[in-house]
Amino acid sequence: MKRLVRSRPPGFETRNTFGANEQQHYPFVMPKAQKTAKRKVASKKSSRKIKSDCIIPPRVPNAAINQFAFKRDDAEGQKIVEYVEWQWGKDKQRSDERVTFLEKVLTEHVMGVANNCWNVHTNKGQWWVIDGYMTNLYSQKLFPSLDYLLSFHLGLALRVNSERTGTDDPRLADRLAAAFRKSEQAAQALDASSESEEVQAVGMRCRETLLAFIRSVCNPAMVPADTETPKAANFIRWSELAANYLASGSRNERIRGYLKALAKETWELVNWLTHTASASKVEGTMAIDATHSILEAFGDALIRHERQMPERCGRCGSLRLQLVYMPEMDHDTAICQTCGFLMAPDDTPESPIAIPL
Ligand SMILES: [Zn+2]
Repeated sequence: MKRLVRSRPPGFETRNTFGANEQQHYPFVMPKAQKTAKRKVASKKSSRKIKSDCIIPPRVPNAAINQFAFKRDDAEGQKIVEYVEWQWGKDKQRSDERVTFLEKVLTEHVMGVANNCWNVHTNKGQWWVIDGYMTNLYSQKLFPSLDYLLSFHLGLALRVNSERTGTDDPRLADRLAAAFRKSEQAAQALDASSESEEVQAVGMRCRETLLAFIRSVCNPAMVPADTETPKAANFIRWSELAANYLASGSRNERIRGYLKALAKETWELVNWLTHTASASKVEGTMAIDATHSILEAFGDALIRHERQMPERCGRCGSLRLQLVYMPEMDHDTAICQTCGFLMAPDDTPESPIAIPL
């Protein structure tokens, strides 16, 4: 019986890859493909209409997507629109570019901070906006992969934050500008220090930071009628008066106690550092961090007291409140991001009561 032998087409001869080519190492030489005749491609599109039931629908217009978007937080989106259009306002060539559609496509939590990634379309192009540690705008042409861009953005944010700008909260930075400036100088001095004497000098700068903080925050109204006004450099006494004033009432007892203990321990730590001849860099870092904690903790209590805003929604109890300035009412207003309730300032921040407007 005859065996059928199939002939192989030219270019497909068998090669023993584990025999003759056993010595071959990476990278392997790829066999060249046989030349084939070039495909003829029509240079012009055919004008002939295709008659078929299968129709690929066109892209849905942005206006229609906006109309039917379901899970979207309009207030959050509006902040991104304002940011993007503010950025373009600085560029004359882009001043007429307007956002036509945006959507939050990803939220990634990195070291306790939520980084929201927005896909933003305009009448001229497509962009990514990422917030979180900092907000920035990127062209989708330059960064087609969002995952890659997020890694780039986080690296950039880390480098920017390492510049030691004092605080991430712009309200606090304005209110305690003098103290934060001195705190930054102390941190820079520590970075540049190499001997104990220089670390001791960092302790002095921390002292100056704390006294600058007292000068910015404390006033005679904090001193009760039957109490003697402390001297300007008496940090511990002034910090006690500030804690009593900014976190008053029975509900704030723990907060008040924490603020007082923090202030006393920090003051004693930085004074100890200034008198320690063998001060190390680690001890200097502790003093800097403790001083910074005072500014942040007292600063939060101060902002809460001065803004007189409720901390939770009076209708649904949510903490997702967004503060908005309303010029026609000449004061700040809080809008609940969960149920949309609008709240006015309250005289007693200790027990906020929402006032329906
Ligand atoms: Zn609510």
